[in-house]
This record gives sequence, structure tokens and C-alpha cells, in this order.
Amino acid sequence: MIFRTVQIPPSSCSRCSSSDTVPSTPSPPELTALFECPVCFDYVLPPILQCQSGHLVCNQCRQKLSCCPTCRGPLSPSIRNLAMEKVASTLPFPCKYSAAGCLLSLHHSEKPDHEEVCEFRPYTCPCPGATCKWHGSLEAVMPHLMHAHKSITTLQGEDIVFLATDINLPGAVDWVMMQSCFSHHFMLVLEKQEKYEGHQQFFAVVLLIGTRKQAENFAYRLELNGNRRRLTWEATPRSIHDGVAAAIVNSDCLVFDTSIAHLFADNGNLGINVTISMC
Ligand SMILES: [Zn+2]
Ligand SMILES: [Zn+2]
Ligand SMILES: [Zn+2]
Ligand SMILES: [Zn+2]
Repeated sequence: MIFRTVQIPPSSCSRCSSSDTVPSTPSPPELTALFECPVCFDYVLPPILQCQSGHLVCNQCRQKLSCCPTCRGPLSPSIRNLAMEKVASTLPFPCKYSAAGCLLSLHHSEKPDHEEVCEFRPYTCPCPGATCKWHGSLEAVMPHLMHAHKSITTLQGEDIVFLATDINLPGAVDWVMMQSCFSHHFMLVLEKQEKYEGHQQFFAVVLLIGTRKQAENFAYRLELNGNRRRLTWEATPRSIHDGVAAAIVNSDCLVFDTSIAHLFADNGNLGINVTISMC
């Protein structure tokens, strides 16, 4: 259930309301404020545990604390506050990216799933691998790539060849380049992974430096072509908000093994034809 932060006049008779789980009338913000964690200012959501004097702290902070941040009293043994849990279940809580512009308030059980895909969640560096810890707004992604990842080359045009050199390099390797067309920037990624001993797989995918909604306006085609053979994959580009890792885990990309790579490679170099179109 999704709550929007609009004021709805209360119904004439609240006793007649058939909903006994979550009321559609937004509750006063003062009530939600009671659930603020004194340490991280995020919300204290069920299971709600209190100190022996009744102070609340969120479960993430609680794990790092040896005493109550409010009264310094002991946090253990854990005392559950079922009444506050019941109140929490009747309240809409704002998305944690509300300061960035998200207007949604949600039931606490739906908050984590939404925040995972919230358009206002900061973008992380789209480069594969976890070495770069940068995050920021969508507008700041391209300047970051130009500044911090200067080795990534860019080709202009809808139809280009993504040349991956030395595909026989051992271990996990990433090849990355940018393609610019239709006034947008696309990131092309080829990743080689050894899922289990001696069996390597290649994953090729195109990401849009843009939102999921913008990505829906495009289609991409990856094609390996040569030696009288052709292997093609067509799909909607993924938003960098979703990232490369999710595409690879789900094999939602062009997947091929080393033998196939060798059928198309020339001297250890693999050319992938990339075509981007608007749809
Ligand atoms: Zn906290
Ligand atoms: Zn306390
Ligand atoms: Zn949100
Ligand atoms: Zn980066």
C-alpha cells in the first residue's frame, strides 16, 4: 500500500470504516516523529525494542550500542514494545529519500522494497566491480566518469564496434566503454567471470546513464558475427540505477562461454557489434 503526502479530510464516521489494518487518512507527522531513532534519525520500526526505562533505538543502531543512547541504562535483556509496534503498523512512514524529493510514505513493511528501487536513491558509480565508492545525483554521473575513469573511451553513433582485447586474460576481467547517441550516454560492459573452477563465462550488457523510465525508450542489440556464425541478443538497456551486477546474476544479458568467445575472437580480441535504437 502506498500513501501519498496529501491531506485527505477525515471520513464522517471513523467507526464505520471497514479498514481495520491501515487507515487511509494520513496521521499527524508528530506521531511518526515519535518513532525517530535518537542516533541515526531513521525510523524505529518493528520489531521495536526498548531499554529498561522505555527509550527506543532502531535495530541497526542497537546492534552497535552497549547502553541506551538516551539514559545510558542497559539495553539487555531485550524488552519488546508491542503497543508501539501496533501503532507503527497504522502509520505511513516517509521514504528515506524524502529529503531528495521522494513524496511517498509507505507502510513499514513496504519501505525497504521501495527504497531499493526509489528514483531518488543516490546513484552509485556504474563501473563494474566495487572499487569505486562514489555516489551522487544522476547529473553528476557523467562528470564523475570523465574525471575519475579517464581510461574509458567513448564512441559516437548508434552503431559501433565494442572491441574487447585480450579476452584470454585469466581471472575476472571487465571491459568497459561508452557509446553516445540520441543525446544520451550508454555504458557497454563485457565481464568475464569464473563461476566455478575452469569454467569461464562472458556477460555483455548495455546500461543507460539515466533512469529506468528513460531506458524504456531505447533498445539495444549485441551481435557476435564471424566465421559464418552469428549470435544476437536484443533487450531494453538497463538503467545504471539497477547496475551491472543484477543483470549478470539473473543472466539478463548476452551470456556465452569461452568456447563461443573463441569461435568469434580474432587473435584474442573480440568485437561486439552494438546497435542502439529508439522505440
Ligand atoms: Zn538508529
Ligand atoms: Zn533508556
Ligand atoms: Zn522513495
Ligand atoms: Zn567511479
